[in-house]
Amino acid sequence: MKKKKISRRGFVGGSMAMLAGLGLPGSSKLFSRTSDMNTGGLKIKEYRTLGRTGFKCSDIGFGSSGVTDPALIAAILDTGVNYIDTAESYLRGQGESAIGKALKGRDRKKVFISTKLGLRENATKENIIERTNKCLERLQMDYVDCLMIHMPSTVAALNNEAYHAAIKDLKTEGKVRFSGLSNHGSQWGDVPDTMEDVHLAAAEDGRFDVALLVYNFIQRDMGENILKAYKKNNVGATLMKTNPVLNYLEMKERVDKSKEEGRDPNPRMKTLIERLKARADQAEAFKSQYNLKNFNEIRDASIKFVLNNPNVNTVCPSIINYNDMEAYVSLSGNKFDLKTQNTLAAYKAAYGEFYCRHACGKCEPQCPYNVPVNTIMRYNHYFVGQGKEKAAMLEYASLPTKKADICSTCEGHCEQACPYGVPVQGLLMLAHQTLTLV
Ligand code: SF4
Ligand code: SF4
Repeated sequence: MKKKKISRRGFVGGSMAMLAGLGLPGSSKLFSRTSDMNTGGLKIKEYRTLGRTGFKCSDIGFGSSGVTDPALIAAILDTGVNYIDTAESYLRGQGESAIGKALKGRDRKKVFISTKLGLRENATKENIIERTNKCLERLQMDYVDCLMIHMPSTVAALNNEAYHAAIKDLKTEGKVRFSGLSNHGSQWGDVPDTMEDVHLAAAEDGRFDVALLVYNFIQRDMGENILKAYKKNNVGATLMKTNPVLNYLEMKERVDKSKEEGRDPNPRMKTLIERLKARADQAEAFKSQYNLKNFNEIRDASIKFVLNNPNVNTVCPSIINYNDMEAYVSLSGNKFDLKTQNTLAAYKAAYGEFYCRHACGKCEPQCPYNVPVNTIMRYNHYFVGQGKEKAAMLEYASLPTKKADICSTCEGHCEQACPYGVPVQGLLMLAHQTLTLV
């Protein structure tokens, strides 16, 4: 869902004017301390122990994949957020550089930074150490708290000998404190194990201290099993893709637009349009029943849901502007009440069928063209759900596999194989239009 963007000046000034100037209840409390002036009183309320690292991390962390503005990162840190998830690959290193600038002059020990390296099977220890040193240069710091393998897609990849040898040396030199991994399920270009296989193996492995996984109110089972295993083994558990919500009304608008432009949708797309239209027609009743002004309330409820699980240490939503910061930090310490529970259940009943489950990929072996269904739908989520249009399009353009344009001439084997009834063939065609601006 597209969000109206506000600037830092707009955020701070606007909040103060709105609350202090207009004298709304709570304004005196919000602006009672000097340090609060930077964040309009917005503060993290809960900290949780990050597994065996012992670090007390904020329940709301910072998913930094879409930010190059040090001022925004500094504002996020000012709220008390102290867990940053980054990667060598985010914005081609610019993400790490921005974090380095934002942290200048701050107490390094008060922030936990995890960065990630994607590894090939033939990676060498020397190369991994060299790349880690480059990360440290961009971050302008002597050490990272955690170095993660970025998306090891098989259990075997957890045993990458070069990585473990590099970690040993880097720890000895004081450049890395802990080892970790991220995995969000199926990738392209290999035969992956499931997200659950990889994380459960990592939990028992003993060499990994922190993990990043997918868990949300629709994609629950895998995540809950993994979280229990990490808790049992005292591994820190951090989350991504906690908000599975896309704006289906926006998707319907895009379909309508292409119809207006005189394109004759193929029959599969027509079926999808009918299903989307039916849901869109129901949306008004759904919204008034749950008093939803927009889908942000579902997003907030999604975060409350995952934080209700005591095995979760921190959630790392993608924060790309001050509106996101305000929305997510406000959720710190919030309780998951019955109303929130009912709202999510109603959302799942109304829209759950359109959600291609992150970290799934069950249908992919049925595709005769090896189209990476789940990866493409994830890129579509980055575009529509997270507002990272450019990054999503670049990722899609660089896919070395067949793309979803081929889906228009196929019989839809993936859709027939989907156990959740996702109309994925039409969604893939729509995703192709979105990600290529056809
Ligand atoms: S379409 Fe269905 S089976 Fe395929 S990846 Fe998505 S949720 Fe899983
Ligand atoms: S619609 Fe056909 S080509 Fe496209 S992903 Fe599904 S099975 Fe593969």
